[in-house]
Order: sequence, then structure tokens, then C-alpha cells
Amino acid sequence: MDKNNDVYTLAGFDQLAPEEIEHLMGLCKDQLDAFLMKRSDPWSHRKRSSGYISGTKRYDVLKRAHFRCELCGISADKKALEVDHIVPRNKGGSDDLSNLQALCYTDNATKRDRDDTDFRDMAESYNHRQEACSFCDIPSGVLVERELAVAIADQYPVTPLHTLIIPKRHVSDYLDLHQPERNAVDQLLQVRKQAIEAEDATVTGFNVGMNCSEDAGQTIAHAHIHLIPRRKGDVTNPAGGIRGCIPAKQHY
Ligand SMILES: [Zn+2]
Ligand SMILES: [Zn+2]
Repeated sequence: MDKNNDVYTLAGFDQLAPEEIEHLMGLCKDQLDAFLMKRSDPWSHRKRSSGYISGTKRYDVLKRAHFRCELCGISADKKALEVDHIVPRNKGGSDDLSNLQALCYTDNATKRDRDDTDFRDMAESYNHRQEACSFCDIPSGVLVERELAVAIADQYPVTPLHTLIIPKRHVSDYLDLHQPERNAVDQLLQVRKQAIEAEDATVTGFNVGMNCSEDAGQTIAHAHIHLIPRRKGDVTNPAGGIRGCIPAKQHY
């Protein structure tokens, strides 16, 4: 760090990637906020109620989105990205990572113009459960739990450590998930992948899959995602993988 007329500069700052700069800015912002809080910043109460997000959490969201808007896909170096509560705070949305998304300022502004009731219905919909559904009653043997989804061990594993990721809301299949549920499912896939690899060094690959509708092989009408660990040589010719849902077409 160099000091020149009260301006501190970090050696090599101009060589940092935009992601690294964003990370540093997040850390600085957190330090500054902590300092202001200690000085009993008169605005701190406003931050808490108006959807304030810490710098490091903001960085985590942007990193997960690969520094692209999660609606239109534009990259952070073309348009400024904002971190948005998918279900707004004042509609019951939480600060959990699964309720946060990166939006470019255009998409974020469009979203703000939409009717509030959309969000109220959405927040409420997460509580939807169906009686006698074997996945609405969270099965025993939960491996990891998040606000919107859980991971359990498959009762009839195709291979050892076969895991199911299940959204808590009763929803027929993966294609009907809301974005926050997709985020939650994606997080759990990552968490379980890492745990499985740490637990079993023979795992050398995965099949990730979902059967959407009875005709596609779905037997429990509540969305679930299979994470199936694969090991070198577990079948004679693995080529084609998921294409094996039509067995005669797996190898080509
Ligand atoms: Zn966008
Ligand atoms: Zn269900």
C-alpha cells in the first residue's frame, strides 16, 4: 500500500480482474459499515429495514451468478449489476443466499414497477404442501437442509451415496420451480457433490437428472433431483450416460 497526498493506493490494483476488485470493495464496505455501526450511524436502522446487503454477501451472489445478470445474462463489465431480494424483505423474503439474485439495473428497475401482490403470492406459495405426499412430509435421513430445499439419501440407491435434492414446496417437477428454489437446489447439489467426493475417493463422476412427468419416468409427483455418483468401471460402457433413459439410444 502506498500513500500519496492522503490517497492510499494498492500496488498492482490496476492489474486486478473486475471480480477481484468487486471482492476487495465488498471487504472495504463491510469494514466501513462496522465502523459506522460502532459510531452509532444514524442511518443504520434504515439499512436493516430497506434490504441492506453486506459487501461480502453481495460478492457471493455476484460470484455465484458468474458476474452476469440472472435474467438477461448481460455481463457486469457491460452493465452495472445490483443484488436483489427475489421475494422482497417487506413481503417476508429473507437474506438467505437462496433469496438473492444478481440483476442488471434495467431488469431490477422493471421488477420494482411490478405489482406488489405478485410477490405476496409467491412468498405464500412456498408454504404449499399436499396431504399424503411422501416428499411434502420431509422424509427422515435429511443430509442437508436449507430454507427452500433438503437433500436426503435415496432409499433405493442406483449407486452408493445416490442423493435426492427435494424442494420443500409441493411442486410437480423441476421445470416448475421458482428461481429461488433453483438456487437452493443448485447450492445443495454443490454441497452434496463436495461431501460425496470427500467421503468416497472412488467417485469419479456424477449423473444429475430429473424425470419430469410420469411418461418420462417420474414415480413421485413432487419434484426431486437425482445426484448419482459414478465410479470408473461401474458399468462396462458408460458412454451416452443420461441418454440411457431410452436404452436403445444410449450408445451412438
Ligand atoms: Zn438483465
Ligand atoms: Zn409434495
